[in-house]
Amino acid sequence: MHWADVIAKELMAKNAKNLISTGITPSGFIHVGSLREAVTARGVYQALKDQKADVESIYIIDSFDPLRKRYPFLDVSYDEQIQRPLSEIPCPCGEHESYVHHFGEPFLEAIERMGLAPKLHWTHELYAQGKLAQITDTAIQSKDRIAQILREVTGRDVPPDFFPYTPKCSRCGKFSSGKIIGYEYPFVSYVCHCGHEGRADVRKADGKMPWRVEWAAKWKLFGVTCEPFGKDHAAAGGSYDTGVRFANEVFINKPPHPIPYEFVQLKGKGQMHKSKGVEVTGLDALAITPAPVFNYSFLRYNADRHIDYDSGLGVLDVVDEYDKVESWYYKGGVEERDKDLLRAYELAQPNGVRGQIPLQVPYRHLVQIVQITSSFDVMLEILKRSEHITEIKVEDAELLRQRAQCVRFWLDNFAPEEVKFHIAPALPTCELSQAEVGFLREVHAKLTQVDWVGDKIHDLVYECAKASGLGAKGGFQALYLIFINKRQGPRLGYFLSTLDRSFVLGRIEEAFSPACKVR
Ligand SMILES: [Zn+2]
Ligand SMILES: [Zn+2]
Repeated sequence: MHWADVIAKELMAKNAKNLISTGITPSGFIHVGSLREAVTARGVYQALKDQKADVESIYIIDSFDPLRKRYPFLDVSYDEQIQRPLSEIPCPCGEHESYVHHFGEPFLEAIERMGLAPKLHWTHELYAQGKLAQITDTAIQSKDRIAQILREVTGRDVPPDFFPYTPKCSRCGKFSSGKIIGYEYPFVSYVCHCGHEGRADVRKADGKMPWRVEWAAKWKLFGVTCEPFGKDHAAAGGSYDTGVRFANEVFINKPPHPIPYEFVQLKGKGQMHKSKGVEVTGLDALAITPAPVFNYSFLRYNADRHIDYDSGLGVLDVVDEYDKVESWYYKGGVEERDKDLLRAYELAQPNGVRGQIPLQVPYRHLVQIVQITSSFDVMLEILKRSEHITEIKVEDAELLRQRAQCVRFWLDNFAPEEVKFHIAPALPTCELSQAEVGFLREVHAKLTQVDWVGDKIHDLVYECAKASGLGAKGGFQALYLIFINKRQGPRLGYFLSTLDRSFVLGRIEEAFSPACKVR
């Protein structure tokens, strides 16, 4: 059984109604690994839905967290914003409501494409609307108990004046590291590190609970029954352990079923986004492959398995695997040990599976075609010719458009040089040997006759190259040279088949004609 179905069954046995919570602190570009949480939550949510279970999902944006440092992508003016809440810091581009909206909004759009449609909650609003007031009061009333739990679970020292609420100074606008001098609901009196003496109203966005306490407070507020989180939080003495005790002993609610997930590691070098100078972000990952493929690439693994994310050539293997599983899904042929992959495929579809198998054009082919033409209509013509498709349905054309966009993005930002090429607009300056000229003559003659399909062209070139004495490698090189001015390139037979036959014949003829220098 797929892991998401296993968790769904456990949840149904525990609770009549389930609420899955997940979230993010958008303090900067969001790492691809953060999407694992969203994919995991969506997988379990869908598995519950498929069982007709009563389930909802929420997504909490920790917008009231402080900016902890000035990240390398921020200019020096952000130095003075450190320790201010993200929701109150200006956005870097000037077009968003705040810093947290600047980084959060594109990410939220991205998870929507993945099929998540949770109810969104921003913590700065939860505080501002007084929704956390009673829970904050409970935490403050239980401050000694909370301090004791923190000591016992983490094994760390907790100062005797520990206070589970940090006021935001009304003068300097930062979370205060000064002293708390009194509490009487709803006011916390403080002296800020800046010297200002003031009082914070727990019914407003005047301050916040420390994050370990706040996490448990959110479980209480919403009645969370299940939450995926990075495995670091699940370590002994970690924030899940303290959260469980806060839930049981302070807030008095059942802690959620945990789904700790392993990290996502970026594989190999060259994982930097070329224009932004940051590592592959979640948004990049969803631009490199369409959402269902991305979802699948994470859903195929149990949450406790670590994932290597490869934004280089590995992308092609992932899409090939997705296409293979898709074909099993519709046409059968899957082996027993791979059955869970079919379920991963099903859960990966943001809008459910289609009634018929989608048109499959290998990503590797699109990588070539996208480099031959930027026009989508021409691309469709090439595909019809090279893949022998008579008609392309509207939804398939949409799928192809999406894939082509992703391929373009990948080529521009992450693809290794070896897969890149462009058709030389004119015959490159070349010096061909007598043997090469003879080979090209022979290929030319035979290409006028052959069926214009990839494998037939490949076989023909291969035979001519061997007969010419150049060997397969030498023959292929001569052709790459005159078409893309490189000594290696895409799979030759398929590549030539995507080009117009008369163009191919013309270019070859030009190359062996006397105008071209023969050495
Ligand atoms: Zn902005
Ligand atoms: Zn201050």
